[in-house]
Amino acid sequence: MPPSTQSAHPNRSGEPEPPTPADTGRDQTRAGDNQLDPDRLDQVRAQAAVAIAAAADLDALAVARTAHVDGRAAPLVLARRALGSLPQADRAAAGRRHNEVAESVRALYDARLAELTAERDARVLVEERVDVTLPGGRRTHGARHPITALSDRLVDVFVAMGYEVAEGPEVEHDWFNFEALNLGPDHPARSSHDTLYVDPVGSGLLLRTHTSPVQIRTLLARPLPVYVVCPGRTYRNDAVDATHSPVFGQLEGLAVDEGITMADLRGTLDVFAQALFGSGLSTRLRPSYFPFTEPSAELDVACFACRGEAARQPCRVCCDEGWIEVGGCGMVDPNVLVACGVDPARYSGFAFGMGLERAAMIRHDVREIRDFVDGDVRFGRPFGTGS
Ligand SMILES: [Zn+2]
Repeated sequence: MPPSTQSAHPNRSGEPEPPTPADTGRDQTRAGDNQLDPDRLDQVRAQAAVAIAAAADLDALAVARTAHVDGRAAPLVLARRALGSLPQADRAAAGRRHNEVAESVRALYDARLAELTAERDARVLVEERVDVTLPGGRRTHGARHPITALSDRLVDVFVAMGYEVAEGPEVEHDWFNFEALNLGPDHPARSSHDTLYVDPVGSGLLLRTHTSPVQIRTLLARPLPVYVVCPGRTYRNDAVDATHSPVFGQLEGLAVDEGITMADLRGTLDVFAQALFGSGLSTRLRPSYFPFTEPSAELDVACFACRGEAARQPCRVCCDEGWIEVGGCGMVDPNVLVACGVDPARYSGFAFGMGLERAAMIRHDVREIRDFVDGDVRFGRPFGTGS
């Protein structure tokens, strides 16, 4: 800034005098005069310039603006206010000086503001940069477990035939799990169940080894006739290997009515097998033994892969048997009906059961039962997870 040309200011060298009530006007004049003094204004400008230049960011510049540019206590603002108290003759020259300084300070401020704004914008562009070429974050979604999905699908088939769904407790009493199903305390078939008992052993509680106790509970609780399908989790003390797990799912069906015959069982299983593996597959019953059905049979379904023609071509699904064993079935043993208070002379019934994991393994060509519980996303993907 060029030095002020007003070198001979009237009161430039005058010292301020202590104000007295009678002297107020003169004191204001002298004070205003001091604030508008060219040297004083130069000093104000220099201080403002230093503060503005020192502002490192927009916040600091805002503080400098309040202190030096247009805040209520800024020297320039106070000096402008003091103009009014100058003698008329001095006012124009002092006003020009003040304007000149004020404008130059404002110009410094504007320049610094533009500089800091540009810096801030450049920094934001770098710091908040969005790379639109990056691959998007895909949200994977889950799906029902394949065993649950299969169970629901089969339950739907039976519900469509008029069956109701029945469920029971997984911690079961020995009487429901064994005795009522014609498996007395000394029955040799008990040992094949590898039962997990609940402490204390004398309590008679165990983890149910099949879903058949639900049949007993149903016959005891519901009025006849009874058509129920019972999906559920069951437990046995089996070591884990490719085809065995201590926890597995079963699906069981029971029909008790007047005049039920083996032909009804066969027809029902045909519908069921085709729902599970596809239409047009024949079924076959092989004589077998279960304590709670008489007669009893194993249910085989023609292999869905080779359609029963394994004799002509090797088939790994049925191991060249042409048939796949999917479950057991039979006519309800009269002793079971009696245990549930049902008159076997009037009513008869059939029951069938199958392992859900085994059915799913055959249906989806899964080689390891452990895959169902490992939680590997690659296993779940074909069943609808993660896509
Ligand atoms: Zn086959």
